[in-house]
Amino acid sequence: MANSFKIGDLDVLAVSDGSISVPGTVYYAGTTPEQWEPHRRWLDHQGNVEFTLGCFLVRSGDRRVLIDTGLGSAPLWTFKGGALMGELAAAGVRPEEIDTVFVTHLHVDHCGACALEGENGLQPAFPNAVYRWTSDEHAHWLSAPQPPGSSFSVSGLQQALSGRFEAADDGASLAPGVNVIGTPGHTPGHAGVILSSGGERAFVLGDAISCPVQLEETEWSGMGDMDPKLARRTQEAVAQEIESSGALLATSHFPGLAFGRVLRGEGRRYWQPL
Ligand SMILES: [Zn+2]
Repeated sequence: MANSFKIGDLDVLAVSDGSISVPGTVYYAGTTPEQWEPHRRWLDHQGNVEFTLGCFLVRSGDRRVLIDTGLGSAPLWTFKGGALMGELAAAGVRPEEIDTVFVTHLHVDHCGACALEGENGLQPAFPNAVYRWTSDEHAHWLSAPQPPGSSFSVSGLQQALSGRFEAADDGASLAPGVNVIGTPGHTPGHAGVILSSGGERAFVLGDAISCPVQLEETEWSGMGDMDPKLARRTQEAVAQEIESSGALLATSHFPGLAFGRVLRGEGRRYWQPL
């Protein structure tokens, strides 16, 4: 499954590395089935939110920027990713073509396929790429304990990519028309990407908003949010900017690998896929 979009002169290919399914009342701790009733369109028949592991390849002139890499072969509870490389190949994209990998944050479902296990340990999966994330994110995970539920070593990945890493903080340019926007809260150095070309703008946010329900229930915090208060402030600021500017929005985990608009009805924002 892959979707193509144009943002001005930028070509965007959205591909999925897999998906993760979690009961809505578990992911948003403290929420009840009654509270979910008006939001059933974001749940499957068992009451689960299905989180797509979306990755976005942006073509800007002769540059190729990949935003997030999904889970790869890393174990996370019972979930499996690993579709990214096949999806890229099916779209005619070779790993060698990618010149920049930008990771929104170092949770394993976003950086799991940055490197592959080889004969001599972890090797970069994109051999010609510079790997970029924010300096706050880098510093946090160098000294952080392992996240629960996974045996994946973030610091091991950082070591394997150390010669390829270049920090990209708020405002940094990844390629012409492709810029970083700091969106801390989900993790200390979480960041998204703004695509802009020819008067069109689109936001690609990792987990700054994990499920579209958060645009409607603005106080709900997902289980991965490390600083829920800051995450909610960041979410409000970025949602306000997207709504008022009419920009497009996609995130790593929204359904359908789609861009959409942030609209308002009955006093609440909501996300409408294109
Ligand atoms: Zn995530």
